[in-house]
Amino acid sequence: MSAAVPSVLFDNHGRPLEYLRLAVTDRCNLRCFYCMPEEGIQYLPKQELLTYEEMERLVAIMAGLGVRKVRLTGGEPFVRRDLVPFMSRLSAISGIEELTLTTNGVLTAPHVPELARMGVKAVNLSLDTLDRARFASITRRDELPRVLDTFYALLAAGIRVKINAVVMDGQNTQDLLPLAELTRDLPVDVRFIEEMPFNGGSHAATLPWNHTRIREHLELNLGTLTPVATRPGDTASHYTVAGHQGRLGIIAAYSRTFCGTCNRIRLTAEGGLKTCLYDQGVLDIRALLRGGASDADIVAALTSAFRHRAANGFEAERQRPLHQLSFESMSTIGG
Ligand code: SAM
Ligand code: SF4
Repeated sequence: MSAAVPSVLFDNHGRPLEYLRLAVTDRCNLRCFYCMPEEGIQYLPKQELLTYEEMERLVAIMAGLGVRKVRLTGGEPFVRRDLVPFMSRLSAISGIEELTLTTNGVLTAPHVPELARMGVKAVNLSLDTLDRARFASITRRDELPRVLDTFYALLAAGIRVKINAVVMDGQNTQDLLPLAELTRDLPVDVRFIEEMPFNGGSHAATLPWNHTRIREHLELNLGTLTPVATRPGDTASHYTVAGHQGRLGIIAAYSRTFCGTCNRIRLTAEGGLKTCLYDQGVLDIRALLRGGASDADIVAALTSAFRHRAANGFEAERQRPLHQLSFESMSTIGG
């Protein structure tokens, strides 16, 4: 990956634009109940998804504005055909220093050697329980063995694994400790995420397990959690536990404690720009791309959108037209 140093774009609150989360598809092979209804969401017709060529062009433009890190997400990234060659092309774009992805791990294991060869250093693996029956009930698919294959393949390849577990009242709170125990002997991060309301309308979100309660529960059972200094832009608060090789993390995704240093933007699978997870989309980049916009036009539109950014997720939520958060799915937004 190139070491060229791009100029950096700052938003209207003085935060740099450094990190792009790019949803390569809205399709998924699981049906996690906190993300989408059992019948799935209404997937976008293929022609409405950005093409790989369009995404490459956008990443190159954004690299010129300071983006250094790209995370592929979705939907499930590996559901889209030819993902790995696409990643390889992205990793060669000047200015992109870190390319990574978030995956549910079902289809990932066979691709791990190629990810390692490409220089992918860390992968976020979504895993809410180590119990096969509960996994099947949460994701509505009996795929835990294949996800664990991916987990061990990543470890064997020397790729850092960050496990993401959504904490759900009445579903997997008994799994927090078994997941946290993975950090005792393995050099992995296990991060617990507050459940957010983006679930495709399948249920009303409540938050009995917020970041404070999650931390208290972990400390009560594991002993002191020692905070690790955060870097600007971090969404997870990380902790070490005496005697553990890996780290624990808590992501206050619903309480939104981290907005002050947010350095990321999102591009949905249909080319919608989100400058905050909680906004409803601030720019239709696909329309620009397909309307013949020049690179300079796109830079101008991106710069303007980033310079009118909400201060935090609460402001972004207030600015939405009347429209409940739960009608959206993280699969469409790009989690
Ligand atoms: N399919 C991939 C996966 O599951 O890793 C990538 C996309 S998924 C939408 C990205 C992340 O969003 C996952 O870690 C998932 O747990 C998280 N997520 C989805 N819906 C959520 C919700 N309602 N609240 C909190 N996190 C959520
Ligand atoms: Fe699919 Fe990821 Fe949503 Fe689960 S969280 S349904 S794996 S997109």
